Formats: sequence, C-alpha cells, structure tokens
Amino acid sequence: MPKKPKLGQNFLVDDEAVERIVGALGDLAGRTAVEIGPGRGALTGALAARAGRVVAIELDRDFSAGLRGQFDAERVTVVEQDVLQFDFAAAAEAGGRLRVVGNLPYYITSPILLKLAASHAALDVAVLMVQREVAERVTAAPGSRDYGLLSVTVQMYGPAEQLFTLPPSAFSPPPKVHSTVFRWRFAPRFGELGVDEGGFLRFLRQAFAQKRKTLNNNLRAAGIAPADAAAALESAGIAAQARAEAVPVEALAALWRGLRASDGVEIRTEETAITKS
Ligand code: SAM
Repeated sequence: MPKKPKLGQNFLVDDEAVERIVGALGDLAGRTAVEIGPGRGALTGALAARAGRVVAIELDRDFSAGLRGQFDAERVTVVEQDVLQFDFAAAAEAGGRLRVVGNLPYYITSPILLKLAASHAALDVAVLMVQREVAERVTAAPGSRDYGLLSVTVQMYGPAEQLFTLPPSAFSPPPKVHSTVFRWRFAPRFGELGVDEGGFLRFLRQAFAQKRKTLNNNLRAAGIAPADAAAALESAGIAAQARAEAVPVEALAALWRGLRASDGVEIRTEETAITKS
C-alpha cells in the first residue's frame, strides 16, 4: 500500500522499539488499550498479545480494512475514524480508564494532545511517539528554553516524561526528524491548585500570548489595569519583570486566584471575556 503523505504515514520498523513502547504502558492484562493510528499494525500485534482488548483508531480506509483482516475482532476493534472525533469516554465505559498508545501522525500532534487532555477523565496513561522537539516542549521545566504554553497545558493534566529517542532510520519511509517517545500519566492538578479548568487554561493562553513580553505586559494586553496587574503579581510572589516561561505553575495559579478574587478584574481573551463568576 503506498504511503499517503498527508496522513503522516511513517511506519515503525524497529522491533525493539515496539517492545519498549508497549512495555511502557505497564501491565495491560484485563485492560483496554487504545491505539491512535495503527497503520500496518506494528504496535497492534504486541498490544493484542498483552491487553484484554485493543481499540485501534485508523483514518485510512485501506489500513483499517487490512487490520480487520489481520486481527481477531474479539480482541482488536478497528475503528475507522479521525481520532479527533473519537469518543474516549464512551470507550472507557466498558472497562475502566484507558491506556493510550500511538506513533502519532505528526501533522496533528497538538490537536491530539489537546483532545487527550479534554478526555482526561477516561484516561490512565498515554505513551506517545512525537517529533523530538515536541517531546522536549511537552516535558520541559519552567525557566528552560523549551518551556511554554504547550508544556504548562500538558503538565496541568499530569506529569510527562521522555522515555527514548529514535533516529529516522527506525521508520519506513524515514521522516526528516528524530522521534521521541514520552509517557503522560493523567492526574489533573486543577483541584490541588485551586483553579477552575476552563478559566485557568484561558488565562494561561493570555499569560503566554507573546513570548518576548513580560507576564505583566501580557496581562495588561489582556485588559487588566496596570495597578491590578502589579498588585496581583506582587501578592503571588512573582517579579514585576518575569516572563510567564520562567514562572512555576503554582505561582501562575496563585496569580489567577488573586486576579479572580479582586473586584472588577476582567481578562479579555481571543474568544470571550473572562470575568470572575
Ligand atoms: N502505528 C503505525 C506504526 O507505528 O508503524 C503507523 C504510525 S504513522 C506515523 C501514523 C498513522 O496514523 C498512519 O497509519 C495514518 O494513516 C494514521 N492517521 C493519520 N491521521 C489520522 C487521524 N486523524 N486519525 C486516525 N489515524 C490517523
């Protein structure tokens, strides 16, 4: 079957990597594993040998038909669908929180990560192969070169750790980039940090809106009066000249709680105004 370039089809041809990826999901006995983009089934066979059930979501009609012929339907359910439309919550109803795995189609990496974040209640852990630079951003610590909005957003849903990196030669055809596998354990931090999920995520988008600007300037650009911004930064213990990229998420949460508590503070966002409510 020829590769369809638009679907990010680079197939894993490294058996040791297959074992390491599936092994990183932990004990799968009796559990449901969801695979994103199974393609020709490089990971699917190893999953089917270990998991109670595998749900394999593949957009490409040729591959989904091939997978149905390759695996026992009792163990592997092939869903021909765009993963961004897949209902993870419904899939979890039958057998507990899901373990997700995938050598992702790189052209939609960020939307897939956001989809998983939005489906977090149905998920236990994800082991995902992404472009190396994306894994570096997702797992970066505050103050480091790669830390930004993607890092803080992913990490609000639970810790993410890099596992290993593969060269282009581990795939056929080889992609232009190195690929890194990371593990993401779903344990959302909104309750612990005393912030509401929707409001805090919108606040983060404003706080990180312009990379070169200070957090103070980004807040002011979002419509916060200079005096309110200065007072909230001070009470959260954040330096007036700090950039959001250097501030730990605990302090950003304190800042957002402070802003929400102060009368009349309103933050403009790209979609809507956030008001305290
Ligand atoms: N898992 C296989 C492997 O490791 O060899 C294939 C990985 S390949 C990088 C990505 C796979 O995702 C392809 O099979 C592609 O057809 C599929 N895909 C692309 N876009 C998709 C989408 N929106 N939803 C589900 N699968 C998609």
